[in-house]
Amino acid sequence: MFKKQLAALLAAAAFVMPMAAQASDHHAGDAAVAQAFIKEIQTDQNAYAAAKGAAFFQELSKGQKPRATVVSCSDSRVHTNMWDKTPEGDLFMIRNIGNQLATAKGSVQYGVNHLGSSLLLIVGHSRCGAIGAASGDYSSLEEPIKKELDTINIAKGVASIDGVKTNVNNQVTAALKEWAAQVKNGELLVVGAVYDFADDMKQGAGKLNVININGETDPAKLHNMPAPLAKAEHGHH
Ligand SMILES: [Zn+2]
Repeated sequence: MFKKQLAALLAAAAFVMPMAAQASDHHAGDAAVAQAFIKEIQTDQNAYAAAKGAAFFQELSKGQKPRATVVSCSDSRVHTNMWDKTPEGDLFMIRNIGNQLATAKGSVQYGVNHLGSSLLLIVGHSRCGAIGAASGDYSSLEEPIKKELDTINIAKGVASIDGVKTNVNNQVTAALKEWAAQVKNGELLVVGAVYDFADDMKQGAGKLNVININGETDPAKLHNMPAPLAKAEHGHH
């Protein structure tokens, strides 16, 4: 069936096409798919609630003290279950296109300043559509999307994974400027990482590669860096 083949081809193309190429593709989706999916969600949700039990939810009801504030890309291929088995109550999540501080500053400030997260984790990822768009011409996109891409400072035409890494490092730099005192006092650790499902960094597909800790980007030094270094050092003084 030609029509079926065309549909499959279009679906495959949409998956690999960078964000900018989909600018004029305001497709309405499929209500039947949505209805099936919401049923799946309800089934999964019921199973989750039953498995966790009342005590678990009672504990959550008391409040939150997330150890980490996380700024990750909205990309559907990126989720916290890849690196945290128990994120509930522990990860204050901020997600936007291009895992940026600039477009969600208040949310990040809330996590760090008011909820007291001692880890600020920035998570970029391979094959990021926002990075692809920002490194090219995105002038035809919607104004709000353009606005969120304008704050991604990477070179035009840069290789995808290099753009991803530069952007993560830029976010760490911005965070270190915002929370300079807290980092210096050992109250906050700022970590930049790249979730690399495409193995573009040649460290293994699916690895979360830490590329920046408090501004340190030398791989040899990062390797020997115990995570709460700043706090441990602080304790000696
Ligand atoms: Zn992305």
